[in-house]
Amino acid sequence: MKNEFSKMDAGSLHLANKRVLLKLISQRGQISRSELSQATKLTPPSVTRIVDELVYKDKLAEYIGTGSSNGGRPPMIVKYKNKNNYIIGVDLGATYIRGGLVDLNAKFISEIQIPTEIEKGFSNIIEKVINIIQRLQSRKEDNSKIWGIGIGVAGLVDRKTGIIEESPDFGWSNINLRKELEDKLDVPVFYDNSTRLMALGELKLGDKKNLKNFAVLNIGYGIASGLVIEGKLVKGHTGFAGEFGHISVDTESSVRCKCGMYGCLEALASGHRIASLGKLELANNNSEILSELCNGNPNLISAEIVAKAAKMGDESCLKIYNDVIEYLCKGIGIIANLLNPEIVYLGGGISLNGDFLFDLVQSKISKYLLPANANTPILPSTFGEHATTIGAVSLVLEKIINLELSVKQDAEKILTSN
Ligand SMILES: [Zn+2]
Repeated sequence: MKNEFSKMDAGSLHLANKRVLLKLISQRGQISRSELSQATKLTPPSVTRIVDELVYKDKLAEYIGTGSSNGGRPPMIVKYKNKNNYIIGVDLGATYIRGGLVDLNAKFISEIQIPTEIEKGFSNIIEKVINIIQRLQSRKEDNSKIWGIGIGVAGLVDRKTGIIEESPDFGWSNINLRKELEDKLDVPVFYDNSTRLMALGELKLGDKKNLKNFAVLNIGYGIASGLVIEGKLVKGHTGFAGEFGHISVDTESSVRCKCGMYGCLEALASGHRIASLGKLELANNNSEILSELCNGNPNLISAEIVAKAAKMGDESCLKIYNDVIEYLCKGIGIIANLLNPEIVYLGGGISLNGDFLFDLVQSKISKYLLPANANTPILPSTFGEHATTIGAVSLVLEKIINLELSVKQDAEKILTSN
């Protein structure tokens, strides 16, 4: 028994050391073996053994020759191998499905975007997701590897079971997306709520690294938030934290939300709401500009077109945005006063309206903020329309750096060879 335990401990210690070294290599981009040894206090032979494994077995690092010497043996330089190692990130949104083939530095190699067409139903959406992934898979070099597929999906995802318990946007309940996809794709699939992934992407790969407290508000077809507190992504007791769209911002409202309550922020300020209000203006003949932009076809009216009309000076569309942003600011005020964040990021389709939107927010936000939070910056998310895709990528990236996927593959190899 004693031997078994000491063997297991040595194995876990080796894995822990390997994780530390891989993390350092990935953070620095390239580093010498002797620097790795100094930084980790591991002996040079241990570093060599582990780095050799990362280079020849895991293929997550590569030797790129020797550096300059200070008299002794020239140091061997090891580089993080982002080439030939890829991740596919998918943003499964209610309006568009976006997929990206990215390297391990989260740099896009190729991307595809197609309309979701929710009305065509579940199987059609799954087929589209598979099609996008397969097309992206075919765009990698022959000798390269796709480590995993990350997917961001609008809805309540149980992180433990992987079941999408409820997705009001898609009208889904109890969906096991992993089962639907892994059988057909032969690559590990991971997913989470799209807004939480936006926050994860911002935390791991965003412009301002090392932020400990921030919120990402996803203002798109629906509204949700991803919250980071003390450097950790907030998941909540059962994983459903961040349902910012369902705080009530108008208790007198007669607008019923998809969740069944009245006056929810999502019911009053989402992209879906903006489009509905635009359609109403068109039906009441209140907007010539809107009518021209959509050729009189209400089905072509989106939040984007309403914003375009507002920017062109259309009074009725400007009023829609004024009202909607007032509600949104009320919501931002609640989040900012509750969390005292360093930054509130706005992501999602509505946030892509640039100065038009951020100027409106700035003109209204101050009355909802305590003096202590009055200077909270409200900024567009780092990755704009790619925020969910990059978040989905960072979900897989975390698993690669933690060597969870290498360990999983080793275990599978042992199982199949038995
Ligand atoms: Zn609601």
